Parts: sequence; structure tokens; C-alpha cells
Amino acid sequence: MSEMETELEESDAGSVLNEKANPCGVLVRPRELRVMLRSVPAPAPGEVRLQMRCVGICGSDVHYWWHGSCGPFRLHDPMIIGHESAGVVEALGAGVTSLQVGDRVALEPGVPCLQCQRCREGRYNLCPNIKFFATPPVDGSLARYVCHPAAWCYRLPESVSLEEGAMCEPLSVAVHANRRAGTTIGSLVLVLGAGPIGLLNCMVAKAFGASIIVVTDIDDRRLAFAETHAGADAVINTRDLDEHDAALVVQQALDGAQADIALDCAGLESTMRLAMHVVRPGGRICLVGMGSSAMHVPLVDASSREIDIFGVFRYSNTYPTCIALLASGRVNVKPLITHRFMGLEESSLEAAFETARTAANGAVKVMLTIPE
Ligand SMILES: [Zn+2]
Ligand SMILES: [Zn+2]
Repeated sequence: MSEMETELEESDAGSVLNEKANPCGVLVRPRELRVMLRSVPAPAPGEVRLQMRCVGICGSDVHYWWHGSCGPFRLHDPMIIGHESAGVVEALGAGVTSLQVGDRVALEPGVPCLQCQRCREGRYNLCPNIKFFATPPVDGSLARYVCHPAAWCYRLPESVSLEEGAMCEPLSVAVHANRRAGTTIGSLVLVLGAGPIGLLNCMVAKAFGASIIVVTDIDDRRLAFAETHAGADAVINTRDLDEHDAALVVQQALDGAQADIALDCAGLESTMRLAMHVVRPGGRICLVGMGSSAMHVPLVDASSREIDIFGVFRYSNTYPTCIALLASGRVNVKPLITHRFMGLEESSLEAAFETARTAANGAVKVMLTIPE
């Protein structure tokens, strides 16, 4: 037994350690979620143990649940699901001084090696050794107790709720995309796709100073949501428009100008093509969504107008920005949380994933809650 474990067993938290159960939301195989009991983990040096409180369901979680894979990652063994999370610190590992028991924190789900070249450049999202919650074979955070490095836990100010803390994860995707796109004061921005990530990209573009934001989608309900809650200046349903007509309508909505930036949160051939038609020479197109893996697009035309086209993979150095955006009220993610379910009860867990998958009853973000 290590010194640290001895220490823990002698502490108050440690004395009840063995009696505590740790129910976890486990994806056993595709379409089979179970609540299983695991042992309560002891925090290693530098880690804290958290009592998890809120875990949002992400498109990737749904993808693992329904298909057993997401992009290049494939589920082989049972895995605890969940990565958009916030909780309360309840035990400190050796050497932790940055946090105290009782602190409310948002958990950044990726823990990079901090040794490799990408990490040293600050682009730790590209670290080949990163351990990211609920990316096989790494377990996620839907559990009563989770240990996580203190350095990747961010204390939430009074004014930011635990649910908002969990939303820092998808919000990070939007902050990273807008940073890569260079959204700034006066930017004319087109957001393609009004799902949760599209809505968050719209909100962040506004917070970063974009002067006009146009949102396209093929679902009127989602577009109405973008206008009411995400600060879209204009919304366009492109369902019945060919790409040239759609480009004209977008340009009208931009007061006759072309867009400086397109954030494609759908990632379909049709949305990328529209982005290429609408973005000005020298503009930027960020591919955020992963709708199709291969597509036919007018690349030479875009190249000859020096349009920069680039991707994003997760995010880096975004959590402090997200917390600042939430604390200042510049971004309000609360309306996005449309549905809540108990996270560690099998029947409600299944219902929650089904709601997230089908977006039933106007679901945008489905939040799993874990009672104290
Ligand atoms: Zn996510
Ligand atoms: Zn690294």
C-alpha cells in the first residue's frame, strides 16, 4: 500500500472509503448503457477526487452509444461514458494546493502529456498521448466519484452554476473555432448548422465582436432558437434553396457583403460548398462539424481567392475564457439546457440518450444530473 493510500484511510474521507459505492454510467456495448458499481478511486498525487454533479450528453457520446464508434475511435471494451462535466472537490491527492475540498469545478476532459512537441507549442489538443474522457479506451466522467488532475479542474465563480460549468466543454469547441477563424470586432460571420455546437459558435462569435451573424439550417425550429437565444442577426432555411440561391440570400442578410468567416458546424458537402460561395477573397472557413468524411467542393476556385480552409480538433487553453464568458454574462448557455435526466439510473439514462439522439421535444442540450 502506498503512503498516500494510508494517509487517505486515516483521513475522514478515507474512513468511509470502503463503504462508499461508486455507481458509473457504463456503455457496455453499442445501445447498452448500464449503471454499474465500481470502487471509489483514490486520488493520485496531483489529483483531486470529485463528486460529479452534472454531465452533458454530447453528439460523440450518442455516436458511441448508437454506433460503437466516433470518427476513428472504436469501442472495444465497456467504457464509462461522459466528458462534459462539473463536480465538487471532495478529496485532495498529495501535493494539491490549487484547490480545496468543497470547490465547485469544471473538468477539462483531456489530459495531455505536456512533453511532446505539440504540447510544448501549446497545441495540446493535438497531443498524440492525450487521455480524453470517454474516448476508448479511456473512461469518462459519468460516475459519482471521479479522480482528475487538479491542474485540469477549473474553479467556478459563485455566479456560474455547475451546469454551466459542464457546458464549458462544448463551449470550448466554439471558442477554439472562433479563435482559429479570427473572429473579431466587425466580423461578418456565417454559421452553418444550428445544433448545439452551431448555436454556441454563434454566441461566441457575437461575444468576440462579430457585427453580423447569419445562421443557416434546414430546421425552422432550430433556426428560431438561434435567433431567440444565440444572438443570430438573420436565419435562413436552406432546405429548398440551391447553393447559388442560398449564397444570394446569405449575402442579402449580410447587407450585400460577403462573409469574412464561415463556421461550418454541419460539415456536409452542401454546407462546405455554400461556405465557399459566400466567403470573401482572403476569408476563412472553419470545418467544425463532421457530417461527411469526403466531399466534392470547388477547391481550386476557393484557392484562387486565397480562402483559408482549416479544421478544428477539440480545443486548447479555452476553459478560463469560457468561464470568463459565462461569469460576465457575455455568453448565456442556460437556454440551451432544455432537458435534464438522472444520470445514474438506468432507465432515465437510456431515455436521456434517446432524447439527445432524436432531439425529441425540441431537445438541444440534454444534461445528466447526479444528486449529492
Ligand atoms: Zn462534447
Ligand atoms: Zn503531448
